[in-house]
Amino acid sequence: MQKIDKKTGEIHTIRIKGLWAPLPIPAFQVLARQKEWQAQKVLVCLVSFIGNEGYCVFPSYITIARACGIGQNGIRKALDVLEENGFIKIHKFYEGKKARNKYYFQDCCWDSGKMNKKASQFLKRTHMCLDCKKHIDGGGYGKGPAGKVHWGCGGPVIKIGIPKAV
Ligand SMILES: [Zn+2]
Repeated sequence: MQKIDKKTGEIHTIRIKGLWAPLPIPAFQVLARQKEWQAQKVLVCLVSFIGNEGYCVFPSYITIARACGIGQNGIRKALDVLEENGFIKIHKFYEGKKARNKYYFQDCCWDSGKMNKKASQFLKRTHMCLDCKKHIDGGGYGKGPAGKVHWGCGGPVIKIGIPKAV
């Protein structure tokens, strides 16, 4: 059931499945800071193909091109960027003699704590763990009963202000 504000039209409940897909905001932000806008677009395009079967999609280049207005070479470059950042893994499969790609979304699209070296350079490290002194971003800690807690070491976390954008 959906609850909608009669005045503003704001949706207060969102149905899972159907037209719902989880936008990978951490990956989207990292790609923006890298100025990799085509890769950003292709990532969102791939997300739009996520169905109920899981986090693997396999649209053809032509389908991707139609969905986001980027040519074959641009798509290829964008896919390289997504792979280098560890956001997707690509596996080839054959449809008859034709090679096609399967795209597997990786956890780090949604969880900045799992990003690889390249991607994590572009995180905004706004907090620090008082125990291990690590600087972390919003995805590196959670809220416990006693306040913010560093995932992994369990130490208390404080805000250190927003550093300059990369
Ligand atoms: Zn820590």
